[in-house]
Amino acid sequence: MTTPLLLFVTLDGVNHPLASCRWVRYDPNGCATGSAPGTTAVDADTAATHFTSTRRDRAREHRRGVRYRLVALEEWREHVKPCLLGECTHQNAA
Ligand SMILES: [Zn+2]
Repeated sequence: MTTPLLLFVTLDGVNHPLASCRWVRYDPNGCATGSAPGTTAVDADTAATHFTSTRRDRAREHRRGVRYRLVALEEWREHVKPCLLGECTHQNAA
């Protein structure tokens, strides 16, 4: 007998199924430039490997201010999706 594995994560005090969360890559200006399903990584360092393959490049990006964060689906829809669609205001500041 197999039981489906359902993991929960706590973000800002609220429990979310990990499968509904997304790892998001943020540029130094706070603009989201990519996302991956929450189940693809156990922490931000692992998530980074999905976007930037070499350790040296990841270290350089980190120094530059690139960050990875796990976000709930609601936040993704509200704050990340506009960035990925090019509809956010982050790029205007550049
Ligand atoms: Zn943006």
